[in-house]
Amino acid sequence: MTWGAFYLWLADRLKQRENGINEARWLIEAVTGLSFYSIREQPFAEATRPRFEKALVELFRGRPFQYVVGSQDFYGYSFKVGEGVLVPRPETELLVEAALQWGKGRELRALDLCTGSGCIAIVLAKHLRGDFTAVDLSADALSVARENGILLDVDVHWEQGDLFAPVEGKMFHLITANPPYLSEEEMAHCPIELTYEPSMALVAGSDGLEVCRRIIGQVSNYLERAGLFLMEFGETQGAAILEQMKKGDWQKVEIRKDYQGKDRFLYAIR
Ligand code: GLN
Repeated sequence: MTWGAFYLWLADRLKQRENGINEARWLIEAVTGLSFYSIREQPFAEATRPRFEKALVELFRGRPFQYVVGSQDFYGYSFKVGEGVLVPRPETELLVEAALQWGKGRELRALDLCTGSGCIAIVLAKHLRGDFTAVDLSADALSVARENGILLDVDVHWEQGDLFAPVEGKMFHLITANPPYLSEEEMAHCPIELTYEPSMALVAGSDGLEVCRRIIGQVSNYLERAGLFLMEFGETQGAAILEQMKKGDWQKVEIRKDYQGKDRFLYAIR
């Protein structure tokens, strides 16, 4: 049997899944470390079969595909992920895009809160000039983020702590955050895949806004005048976020949408 024939078998097993046909190819590439097209005509390595069987069992139990293969692409880069960190989501790429457009050509100090896998901080450090700091409460997340920083060859100061606590007294030109923003109610009815991700990266109290509110309450103390603040939030939270922002002194406050046209992140100039 060739890898091509094995692929047909695997794709058939996965075909009920939304993205099963692609997943079959990605799984082969993750297990072999080779491009599927380069091995398609070559004999299947029987010794790898148990790894595919194990992956199938895990996927059908609901373990997210990204944890099974151990990585997720974000903004064109491959990020290592595991149970301790949120899987980077494509909608967050739009927040990154906004930061890159604004920050292009500037020399800046940037801070990323709730960094998780480090995806936002790392892409910014790849494309912008300056000094980059990223914070997370979770030591597990930070160790993955640090590893991603090394794999992708960027210099980021990784700090463990609660929101701004590790950067007390410092000022930044750019502050980004993808905090937890699901409500307890949403989490109670979420798809099984989500229960594999760290709840501290997802859930923020009864209305999901607990962490967003704390960030908005403190962000002005750390953001330079004319600096940019970008924060992701949930699709129903736009009005509440704008209300919170009224308490501060901002030159510009906008809600930006995601690929599905849903409210997704705050764009604010101090
Ligand atoms: N967008 C994620 C989801 O709905 C939530 C991420 C977050 O809380 N920051 O699965």
